[in-house]
Amino acid sequence: MNIKETIRSIPGWPIEGVIFRDITTLMQDPAAYRAACDLFYDRYKDKGIQKVVGIDARGFVFGAVLAYQLGVGFVPVRKKGKLPWKTIEESYALEYGEAEVEMHEDAIEEGEKVVIIDDLIATGGTIEAAIKLVTRLGGDIVECGFIVELPDLAGRSKTGDTPIYAMCEFE
Ligand code: 5GP
Repeated sequence: MNIKETIRSIPGWPIEGVIFRDITTLMQDPAAYRAACDLFYDRYKDKGIQKVVGIDARGFVFGAVLAYQLGVGFVPVRKKGKLPWKTIEESYALEYGEAEVEMHEDAIEEGEKVVIIDDLIATGGTIEAAIKLVTRLGGDIVECGFIVELPDLAGRSKTGDTPIYAMCEFE
């Protein structure tokens, strides 16, 4: 199963000069969706993971399946203003624009082993903010897992010692 082949590339969206890597075509292909979920599961099943953190919104699509398969809880990192309880927040710069993300302050226990899941790492701003949130709550981040990495945007330079895994890359 070639997962990368199922991802659609859209030049000029959402702004001129960007090629958006659209994973909805992966998600709507049952074999590709299952293969991507299974790759995450095989990678993390023996790592003692206690919580899966998924990033709003495409990180939920893969993170929730992983949490279910591992038999652990799922925690959403959400864009500002969506979570109903007490939150902690971090702001960050996107590939285009700026944003803030939040997590419930009681979402992770001190010392819990965590994997963070999102669909794509570009400049690394989003995952850097998520790493800060989990770290502030005392979580022990085993790895951050992605479907796609855009190495030209050097996202790994923002993630310090936290290991990064991606299933495929685009120039
Ligand atoms: P970063 O913060 O690493 O620059 O951007 C990554 C975040 O923006 C991820 O949450 C990801 O969902 C979204 N993102 C940025 N560019 C793309 C893209 O080309 N395709 C997809 N699917 N998501 C993107």
